[in-house]
Amino acid sequence: MLPRGATYEAIRDAFRWRIPDRYNMGVDCCDRWADGSGRPALLHLHADGRVDRISFDAMKADSNRLANVLRAHRISRGDRVGVLLPQVPEAAVAHLAIYKLGAIAVPLFQLFQEQALEFRLRDSGASALVTDTTGLAKLGSIRAGLPDLRLVLNTDGAGDAALDLPYAMTRASDAFDPVDTAAEDPAIIIYTSGTTGAPKGALHAHRVLLGHLPGVEMPQDLFPRPGDLFWTPADWAWVGGLFDVLLPSLHHGVPVLAHRMAKFDPEFALRLMAAHGVRNAFLPPTALKMIRSVPKAVQYGAHPRSIGSGGETLGAELLEWGRGTFGVTINEFYGQTECNLVVSSCSAVMPARPGWMGRAVPGHEVAVVDSEGRRLPPDAIGTIAVRRPDPVMFLGYWNNPLATAAKFVGDWLLTGDQGVEDEAGWLRFVGRDDDVITSAGYRIGPSEIEDCLLQHPAVAMVAVIGLPDPLRTEAVTAIVVLTPGIVADAGLATELQGHVKTRLAAHSYPRQVIFQDALPLTATGKVMRGELRRCMVQGSD
Ligand code: ATP
Ligand code: MG
Repeated sequence: MLPRGATYEAIRDAFRWRIPDRYNMGVDCCDRWADGSGRPALLHLHADGRVDRISFDAMKADSNRLANVLRAHRISRGDRVGVLLPQVPEAAVAHLAIYKLGAIAVPLFQLFQEQALEFRLRDSGASALVTDTTGLAKLGSIRAGLPDLRLVLNTDGAGDAALDLPYAMTRASDAFDPVDTAAEDPAIIIYTSGTTGAPKGALHAHRVLLGHLPGVEMPQDLFPRPGDLFWTPADWAWVGGLFDVLLPSLHHGVPVLAHRMAKFDPEFALRLMAAHGVRNAFLPPTALKMIRSVPKAVQYGAHPRSIGSGGETLGAELLEWGRGTFGVTINEFYGQTECNLVVSSCSAVMPARPGWMGRAVPGHEVAVVDSEGRRLPPDAIGTIAVRRPDPVMFLGYWNNPLATAAKFVGDWLLTGDQGVEDEAGWLRFVGRDDDVITSAGYRIGPSEIEDCLLQHPAVAMVAVIGLPDPLRTEAVTAIVVLTPGIVADAGLATELQGHVKTRLAAHSYPRQVIFQDALPLTATGKVMRGELRRCMVQGSD
């Protein structure tokens, strides 16, 4: 754990990784806490408000039973096992069982429809799937196209061509000798969000969890502390839900609040945090923007000890609003499915810098480089890169050595994101490679302009993109979703343009402001700027 009371520099310089040769995430996150004391692992909040407390002891017994069921059906080391479940205890148990078996988990988002599921199940060659009745219904029409999938387990009981998992578990032993895995052995394939194209399967080793730990301590202001209780609305199928919340908490023996939320409801999120005393939260920027639209959000009394946010730009506006609403400084962090949580703020160690993501998390070497992997001087725009070896880094894209090779230049993993680093190692996000706008010879990042527009009370959400322009190469264009109750008129567009001109820079103000009811978002709530560009260009043809 990172030391308390030291400066960032001292913590960073003293940090050393301790990754054992043999290591298994399932054993680490469960068995070592299962000492018969009933220590709580999950607080499961049901739709009717009931809360079940699930202990590490119960999770150990259940994950052992499930591992035995899988083994009895000849699922073994290296086999891929899909987990298509919402935030319920069975999802956590499935992960633990798969790791203890030495198999490879393939988390699948509960809201995926047939095509998304078929792509991931086929690409990963999954031979088993743990799901519920809802998941089973989606499987019906695609199963014929999945020859590798020979076992489907239904957590709700009997179902079409599926094994009744609760029944099978009552007959299975609760004793299981975990497979002796190396820290370097593959454990999980997580598909990227698909913001820029087809999602890619990032294959990770067991050590990926240890690689995450300093990265979770920073945004959660030196997590864990006594009394902590972690919650996120992000589904556990994404790297953010699984490796920034669920598994690190279980590693530390800290309970997680689990609740199935099909669609993010900002008012409910405020009530949930207040009623259940959530102490630590991961709230992506889109969720924060939605909460910001709830009238009198502060009166709900949600006061977590720490809030981390990442996956998109947080920005100065949300930071300031967060202080007023939650009474804490929201810590921004940065990473990607392939190499997650490598940059972060940490208000417990250093004051936040509005508009900047944070500094390299101790243990990770992050730099801004050119296309040949040469470090750029401070304040120059370039590619954000992470040096290998790094325990949080992926093993490669599943079945795609060419894409894996293209991700690296020498020892640098190229994130595909543009950023700036200053003298003190603070990093500012400029935009994804494809989203940086070239206008009249300038390279303009959408993030800063979006953050500036968000400060205007009429703006609830905004995406800034570059559209083809004969004069300027690209013209900065803002797509704005208005705050409920505000009606667009001709004057508002001019006002928003003036807002950017006077606060940011004259060259980056949006030449065009377009009002829309909503923005295209990925399932993880990320704005699909590429999709917006394509729609706008096609629409104007
Ligand atoms: P795909 O790779 O399939 O297009 P994706 O890159 O959105 O999808 P993820 O791995 O979920 O999939 O997202 C990682 C990306 O999210 C980063 O590469 C970066 O572009 C963006 N991101 C993460 N954290 C931040 C942050 N703090 N500020 C701005 N952008 C961020
Ligand atoms: Mg990506």
